[in-house]
Amino acid sequence: MSNKIPRGIASQHIVAAIRDLDRGVRHGFGESTGYDVLFEGRRYAPKAVVGLAARKLTGVLLGPYDFKGGLKSACFRVLENNGFTIITKGETSPFPDEVSDSDRHVEGAVQRISVNRFERDPEARARAIRHYGSRCLACGFDFRLAYGTLGEGFIHVHHTVPLAQIGKSYIVDPVDDLRPVCPNCHAMLHKRTPPYTIDELREFMEAANPGVQRTPARGRR
Ligand SMILES: [Zn+2]
Ligand SMILES: [Zn+2]
Repeated sequence: MSNKIPRGIASQHIVAAIRDLDRGVRHGFGESTGYDVLFEGRRYAPKAVVGLAARKLTGVLLGPYDFKGGLKSACFRVLENNGFTIITKGETSPFPDEVSDSDRHVEGAVQRISVNRFERDPEARARAIRHYGSRCLACGFDFRLAYGTLGEGFIHVHHTVPLAQIGKSYIVDPVDDLRPVCPNCHAMLHKRTPPYTIDELREFMEAANPGVQRTPARGRR
């Protein structure tokens, strides 16, 4: 296979290509098989990104047979040289905000629903934090106490409703369905699908370090 990737693809071309993919632009590339490009917590097929990035640079869209993908390919080199992270399909990224598209969509729903959408929705997040506070409900970690003004207002928000229960008409209830947790606890909750509950996580912590004083979780969990 020849390599028709033009020289000079820069990160702005790659970001613009990713924005195109977000908008659902048409292209001839299939789903990625072994690897994904990680960007802003989302995964993209590397060849589709580079094929579209080439068009941003030259005006000509490359097709799937114009270049190879995979490890040590020119395609991956373009992405890596521009500072993008490529991860394997199976690899779960350290933070649940970065779970793959296939993990966070409800298959079979008329509209594919991103669960992380609920964890990121600023309005719902704010209401959950107003209700529960911004400390981690599992371990009590408080970013404001640990990092001062830098940590102020920082917390992840975990969405507790199982995927199977989410239908098309589901509307997030910030108090019933969301819980502020620190990124460490959030990652631990998502070590299993469906996620552990916050109570279960606290049981793990208590078993590992009995008697350690943790700030009790507030409210229902
Ligand atoms: Zn925590
Ligand atoms: Zn979560």
